[in-house]
Amino acid sequence: MDLDDIIKKSRNAGQFSREEVVALLALPPNSLETYMVMAEASRISREVSGNRAEIHAQLAVNLAPCPKDCLFCSFAVVNNIFRTATITAPEEAAKQARQFEEDGANAIYLMATATFDPGQYLEISREVRQNLHPETMMIANVGDEYAVNAQALVAAGYQGVYHALRLREGVDTKIGPDRRLESIKAFQEAGLTVGTCVEPIGPEHGNEELADLILFTASIAPAFSGAARRIPIPGTAMAQRGMISELRMAQIVAVTRLVVPRSVKGNCSHEPGTVPILGSANLLWAEVGANPRDIREKTEEGRGHSVPAIRQLFREIEWETLDGPSCFFAKGP
Ligand code: SF4
Repeated sequence: MDLDDIIKKSRNAGQFSREEVVALLALPPNSLETYMVMAEASRISREVSGNRAEIHAQLAVNLAPCPKDCLFCSFAVVNNIFRTATITAPEEAAKQARQFEEDGANAIYLMATATFDPGQYLEISREVRQNLHPETMMIANVGDEYAVNAQALVAAGYQGVYHALRLREGVDTKIGPDRRLESIKAFQEAGLTVGTCVEPIGPEHGNEELADLILFTASIAPAFSGAARRIPIPGTAMAQRGMISELRMAQIVAVTRLVVPRSVKGNCSHEPGTVPILGSANLLWAEVGANPRDIREKTEEGRGHSVPAIRQLFREIEWETLDGPSCFFAKGP
């Protein structure tokens, strides 16, 4: 692979083959070539978003042991971290959402565990919607059951959803990959814009499977793509597989940016950090309440970041942050 040709192809917004994507991922993270890929990817990220990064903020409407048993998730029954179920009161959810809005989050996500009752989810959603400015964007982060009645999410005031075909879906989770694909299609058909990314990446994932997932995200016209590394949940079997470095994640974020079409303006990274921003991430996440990567019930007391903390991370890499509703989820050019 000639890197100059790759950069030239990127500058011409050319399409990358699977072999090229695999070759880019196979470069050593700490190499001149990878830093060149990161530099080109950062240039694209700044160009497509007008040098305005976005901060999206998520609250949890519930906390419950989840029978879908994704091995990387602290809610999975099999991981035995959380044993009781709690629901965030609608007024409390509205208060958390208003705080995010006041802090300047560009989109507010309401997350539920996969089997949480859709009726209750919609009730909490309506309360939150009523308490936010009409222009504030609400994004749902919900299970596949919700895709059956995706129109109800639209009616409750959602503009988009977060949904991903996860790495080794159906192997490390109890959800078949086809189900995830059907859900993404159903959400889109209902008029919801889908945000997605390559997740949750661990050291065992090969370059071929990463390349396949990057190309998949590129194919579905999402609001954003990007990459998230797996956070080991202490005491779980999967924690023994370890974690990739921030630099490796930054490399994958950068390769994703090169491959995904320019019409996709967002490139996320999770969990937040300055190294992935250097690798071209222009979307990071703030969180409160339950979090599938945390063993604390309130992630704001654990792994979760606040909106101001994320803004500071972007400032460190000399990114401005967007004021107002998300451009990544905005419809049209
Ligand atoms: S990732 Fe979602 S579906 Fe999987 S166990 Fe956690 S809450 Fe359930």
